[in-house]
Amino acid sequence: MSELFSRRTALAGGIGLASGMGLLASETLARAAGYQEDQNVHAPGGPVARSLAASVGKGAEYSLPPLPYAFDALEPSIDAETMRLHHDKHHAAYVKGANEALAKLADTREGKLDPSALSELTEKLTFNLSGHLLHSVFWAIMGTGGREPVGELAADIQQQFGSHAKFKAQFSAVATQVQGNGWGVLAYEPISERLIVLQARNHQLNVAWNAIPLLVIDVWEHAYYLKYKNVCTDYVKAFWNVVNLGAVDQWYGLIKRRHQDPAHEEHGH
Ligand code: MN
Repeated sequence: MSELFSRRTALAGGIGLASGMGLLASETLARAAGYQEDQNVHAPGGPVARSLAASVGKGAEYSLPPLPYAFDALEPSIDAETMRLHHDKHHAAYVKGANEALAKLADTREGKLDPSALSELTEKLTFNLSGHLLHSVFWAIMGTGGREPVGELAADIQQQFGSHAKFKAQFSAVATQVQGNGWGVLAYEPISERLIVLQARNHQLNVAWNAIPLLVIDVWEHAYYLKYKNVCTDYVKAFWNVVNLGAVDQWYGLIKRRHQDPAHEEHGH
């Protein structure tokens, strides 16, 4: 594999949350075909894989992936102004923050900056990188598509949560109960091959190592306040009107295959 591949993997693998996603971006980018090849809707991993591939740009800096639909595509559940601000301002700020942190960490290693700031810079990287990757998943699991689970995702939710309704109730409650800023996250835990629901605080706290986000909802106030004011529960309800569980299933399929067949990436299906 190329030096670029290794560097991207090393960069993105810095935290548990990012490890699975980092590999994905690496795989796609290492093909040197870039984002264009990924426009194929049948590409492995679907919209989430495409969004994550676009979340790393040239020179292994992080970059803002394009929103995969128009700003008003999720109206009326999520309004266009919220989407524009959220993607173009908030998400962009996380990208910038992650890149700044990496640059300053490099400068610190070179003796250009005081090492006493290392703790702060490390936290800046963790916060901004986690925010960047979660948003990249978030855009891609919304849009047109299935509101009901399909395929392997449907079968595993049924088996592990009892039913889609039980899963949905748990996920919605966990998201609604976030104190302050955070996320509801359905993640794949590769060691046990289990689906787990997590509640991230900010972007990076209360997260399980190595769990790979599959379906995420941003419950920071910036995600809903313009339209829903303080009524987060209505926003979480509306989220289910715009979720694309087909995209989640495509992403889940790729993650599971990679875990169950580690040679998957090398042989390139
Ligand atoms: Mn957000």
